[in-house]
Amino acid sequence: MIPIKTERELEIMRRACKITAAARALAGEMVRPGVTTRQIDKAVHDFIVSQGAKPTFLGYGGFPASTCISVNEVVIHGIPSDRVLKEGDIVSVDVGAFWGGFTGDCAATFACGNISPAAKKLIEVTEQSFYEGIKFARQGNRVSDIGHAVQSWVERNGFNVVRAFVGHGVGEQMHEEPEVPNFGAPGRGPRLFKGMTLAVEPMVTEGTYEVRVLKDRWTTVTADGKLAAHYENDILITDGEPEILSVPEGF
Ligand code: MG
Repeated sequence: MIPIKTERELEIMRRACKITAAARALAGEMVRPGVTTRQIDKAVHDFIVSQGAKPTFLGYGGFPASTCISVNEVVIHGIPSDRVLKEGDIVSVDVGAFWGGFTGDCAATFACGNISPAAKKLIEVTEQSFYEGIKFARQGNRVSDIGHAVQSWVERNGFNVVRAFVGHGVGEQMHEEPEVPNFGAPGRGPRLFKGMTLAVEPMVTEGTYEVRVLKDRWTTVTADGKLAAHYENDILITDGEPEILSVPEGF
């Protein structure tokens, strides 16, 4: 069952998503050479708590922090640590805030100081692929229409989309139905209806789309050690254009 949110539920969820987006923006501002990923995590944690919300990721499946911070070849689920960010790193931050019974979940990849042109292009193509995908996130379309558009954009630009992890419904739970893959043929999967809320999250690689999970059971890296980027927003399906919920303004 794919949950359909009422207008009342959406009012709450908008706030949860705005807090989440503001937390992502804060993390992005902190990305610079010399900062540890743990410092970023701590600031994000304290910000979320200051908003009367709870960090959704903390303790989720046993995850030990409030953010996932994934540097360079780490695709997702990097654990904040004493690692010091260096000039040229690309830093993906994924965060969730639970407020009023609903959660936001969003991510972006940030440049640490000056980065290579290739890394810059990877970040830009990843972000744009989200916008290409959500052009198809409309009532009456099917879920795979989104992923098909994401994949087409990414591959046209010479990169690849991760297959092993996908987007998802989001709401009272961080992971709800349906799965939202970033690849595949169009016209498949559940039909989209007004009131569905989805986390659309392209994970894009410079090289192979194959990934592996390290011994800590979280850190997910590209199989070939090349760079990866991530971009995620929560969206609401409407009878027109989708509404992006994870925007940092107006709360
Ligand atoms: Mg997600």
